Amino acid sequence: MSKSNGNLKLMPKVDLHVHLDGSVLPETLIELAKLGGPELPEREPEKLWPYMRVEGECDSLAQYLEKFAFVLAYMQSGQALERVAYELVRQSAEHGCRYVEARYAPQLHREKGMSVEATIDCVLRGLSAGEKEFGVIARCIVICLRGHSRERNLEVVRAASAYYGRGVVAVDLAGSEAHYPPELYESEFRMARRLGLPITIHAGEAAGADSVGKAVTLLGASRVGHGVRMQEDPDVTELIRVRGIPLEMCPFSNMQTKAALGWEKYPLRAYFDTGIRVTVNTDNLTVSGTTITKEYEALREHLAFTDEELCAIAMNGAKAAFLEEETKRTFVSKFAEELKDWLGEAVN
Ligand SMILES: [Zn+2]
Repeated sequence: MSKSNGNLKLMPKVDLHVHLDGSVLPETLIELAKLGGPELPEREPEKLWPYMRVEGECDSLAQYLEKFAFVLAYMQSGQALERVAYELVRQSAEHGCRYVEARYAPQLHREKGMSVEATIDCVLRGLSAGEKEFGVIARCIVICLRGHSRERNLEVVRAASAYYGRGVVAVDLAGSEAHYPPELYESEFRMARRLGLPITIHAGEAAGADSVGKAVTLLGASRVGHGVRMQEDPDVTELIRVRGIPLEMCPFSNMQTKAALGWEKYPLRAYFDTGIRVTVNTDNLTVSGTTITKEYEALREHLAFTDEELCAIAMNGAKAAFLEEETKRTFVSKFAEELKDWLGEAVN
């Protein structure tokens, strides 16, 4: 029974960790460049890939992050944000996602004077149009950035609160984890908690287990982005397991940034086997050159996951969604039914 080999593209999935600016299609970038921004170095989509996608592994997270600077110059208008958000929902739908949480950092899209709120309005408009068109439930996570001032991050937290329940579902902290430890952002996330905002934190990617522990105990994260290097400390691993904190793991990205040095060092299988709530996500469709289907295929290929186990991971994702409670209840039960149907067809 467990030897099934279902079509993973058709398997119902969710994507809880995917960045807007890491998921811009090259053909879209050409269109966006017509609206403004510096002249593109190439005019054909295929030739733009090297500027937008990591080729093989990169040396570090820092090098991975460089790919974002390239596209950000063309994402400074409401029109651009709306389009990229809409197309992200389309890309998710094409790979069987039933639910997607798209994230982005409002402060990186203000070069031409947009307010934080205006950027959120445009992203939500794109997500909502995509939701209607493609039948994928789409929500937004707004990101505070390591290295940004308290004032700028608080601005993001306040805006998130104003849009909470209207499309925004949580706040995040991203950026150079190795240089900016969690304790620098205590007051921002204290404010987020006071405002009742769910919190997810990028941790255990470019820094060790301590960063994961503090994301939870100090900043109040109820989900953790990546958590790969948590494996360096059994105590932190146990804390995450006992508290039932879902990990938003992104296998291809985690290999590329060298959060894990190869599949044999990748802790996803061990985490899953010890009962940690592992979820699988894409991080960046374009920068990582991935799809949610490819991520699940890699689990099957490199970590010997059976289809039943892959369904359990997808279900972990649905249950970990920051979706509004009532909508979530309906969504999760429908999702469970769809998974059962898929598995039934995969086995027969
Ligand atoms: Zn991320």
